[in-house]
Amino acid sequence: MRAVVKTSSSPGLEMIDVPVPAVGPDEILLQVKATSICGTDLHIRNWDPWAQSHVTPPLVVGHEMCGVVVDKGPRADGPEVGQLVSVESHIVCNRCAFCRTGKGHLCENTRILGVGQDGVYAEYVAVPAMNAWPDPPDMPYSIASLQENFGNAVHTASVPLVSGRKVLVTGCGPVGVMAIAVARALGARLIIASDVSQFRLDMAKQMGADITVNPISDDVVGTIMDVTEGEGIDVLLEMSGAPSAIDQGFSTLKPGGEAALLGLTSGALDFNLDDHIIFKGASVHGIVGRRLWVDWYQMRGLLRSGAVDLTPVVTHRYALDDFERAFETMASGECGKVIMFPDPADADGQLE
Ligand code: NAD
Ligand code: ZN
Repeated sequence: MRAVVKTSSSPGLEMIDVPVPAVGPDEILLQVKATSICGTDLHIRNWDPWAQSHVTPPLVVGHEMCGVVVDKGPRADGPEVGQLVSVESHIVCNRCAFCRTGKGHLCENTRILGVGQDGVYAEYVAVPAMNAWPDPPDMPYSIASLQENFGNAVHTASVPLVSGRKVLVTGCGPVGVMAIAVARALGARLIIASDVSQFRLDMAKQMGADITVNPISDDVVGTIMDVTEGEGIDVLLEMSGAPSAIDQGFSTLKPGGEAALLGLTSGALDFNLDDHIIFKGASVHGIVGRRLWVDWYQMRGLLRSGAVDLTPVVTHRYALDDFERAFETMASGECGKVIMFPDPADADGQLE
């Protein structure tokens, strides 16, 4: 089968022929219908220090997908052959103290598709049956594919209380704009969004932001203090990892406010802990992955009720054979989610 593979310890990816994976006893074999690009895949392609310390080539890359079950191992419960499913990419042990206490997102034995084991940029992938999330058969493949990334947004926006509150979202990449839609659906009173890209601020507006600010041209802190009548924000959803955005977010956070941090910084921070957290009595939540499976159920509810529409987030579609162009689009930042289809006939919209 065709697969996009990190073949060596250097920048780049290659499409090569690899065997269709064998199906383990507890696994299902999926024919991949759509797969989306995440920032992590860019790190692996660029072979940055994070990728060098987490990835051992050769590796089939990619972890966001939907596909149809085509085979099952003898002990695999769950979805039947023919079922459309999305996949949770974190394969957890179900044995450790975290898994056994409902905190599977913190599992100490987590393996991640496309990072620690072969991933989904391929025609077929074998995954534990437990990791499949059944989708309605009429769900567009592009939306089904990006659900796992949507789960990060749902997780971040549902840990702090946003209902009736003033929310700042710093960083309007795909996760940031999806978090805006979730905060809106959960009843936020005011949503302010910041980004350095006008393209992404436009997406933020489309997904429900009331006010957008660009740190390059606007006084972010001054604007936020003005529009909140000098009070500041109740909730910070940090989705950029940019040190200046983190500082602006905490500078405008009200005493007693809540911050949920998802964005990854590229190193240690110079951060005013006393003023930003301690003297404010702020609550800070680190957000990792998706709570298994609370966030998946929450996602399903938000999508099926129509409270969140992710259609505008899908900005580009490519054939998987065209992965180089798809990655260039993702790297440009002039995009929302970029979806790739192993079989172009499966595309649910115009291919680029
Ligand atoms: P992304 O890189 O597409 O989005 C980040 C956005 O931040 C970009 O639009 C960028 O223009 C913007 N930005 C950069 N500097 C800024 C500044 N000074 N002020 C405001 N915005 C600024 O990433 P994404 O896919 O949307 O993911 C969001 C973040 O979450 C990334 O840092 C990613 O690594 C991280 N992430 C974490 C987890 C987790 O489990 N914790 C999971 C997925 C993603
Ligand atoms: Zn575990």
